[in-house]
Formats: sequence, structure tokens, C-alpha cells
Amino acid sequence: MKCKTLHKKLIFFLEGDLPDKEQKEVREHLEHCADCAAFAQEMKKTLGILELEKSPEVTPFFYTRVKARLENQEEKAEERVGSPVWERVLQPVLFSLLLLAGIYGGFKIGEPAVPEYSPATYAKNELIPFLNDMQTEPLETFLMEQNNGN
Ligand SMILES: [Zn+2]
Repeated sequence: MKCKTLHKKLIFFLEGDLPDKEQKEVREHLEHCADCAAFAQEMKKTLGILELEKSPEVTPFFYTRVKARLENQEEKAEERVGSPVWERVLQPVLFSLLLLAGIYGGFKIGEPAVPEYSPATYAKNELIPFLNDMQTEPLETFLMEQNNGN
């Protein structure tokens, strides 16, 4: 058996989930391969720790609890290097408030609730005055032409 193959099967070996033949192959490999034996020791330790976490009534929350523990460790690490709370929490909140204020402000001055970059706003601010000019001027020209014709 190759070391790589063994590493894949090791967790099942430690749980005793392998067929007898493979269980024996892994055991024999571990007797002759120091690297794999050391790896097996590490994995056994890890499984031992996980085993302590297990208890029948909390099985669904098992991973949540492990995750929480890992996050606590991360938080401690972050405290060491210094991680300002506002960057992680207040900044997104502030951003949301600014966004809301922007939308609210948009409503307040009677603009339609469209972002400033939208084609609709472009049309309203740039195109409509232009169209108004187009509409009034030809009308006047038209009327003048009518008068001239008579
Ligand atoms: Zn090996």
C-alpha cells in the first residue's frame, strides 16, 4: 500500500471502519513506515479531542460548537494584532445608513427612486429639456410659416 493511499484510509482505519483485509494492510504499513506512524498518531490525537466533544444530545450542534471554539481562538489572535471593532461591524452599518440616507434623501427632494446613474434619471435631466426645446421651437416655426403662407 502506498503512503498516499494509507493517508486516505487512515481515518477509517482508526475508526475501525475498514474491511478486515485493509485494516490489516494499514496496520502492517504503520509498523514499517515511520512517517505514516507519526501521521497516524497525530490523527488519533485529533480524533481523541473530537471524541471528547461528542455527546448524544448535542450531536447536531457538534460542529457549531467546534466552530465557535475556533472562532474564539481567532478572536484572541486578532486582539493581539489589534482589530478595531468599527472596521468589522460599524463600517458596514455606517455604509448601510449612508445608503438609506441617500435613498431617503432622493425621495425627499421629489426625485423618482432611481439611482443617479440610471438611464431614467439621465433622460429626465438631460434629454427632456432637450425634447422640450425641440417641441416648442418647431411649433413656433410652424405657426410663423402658417402666418407667412397666408
Ligand atoms: Zn507510509
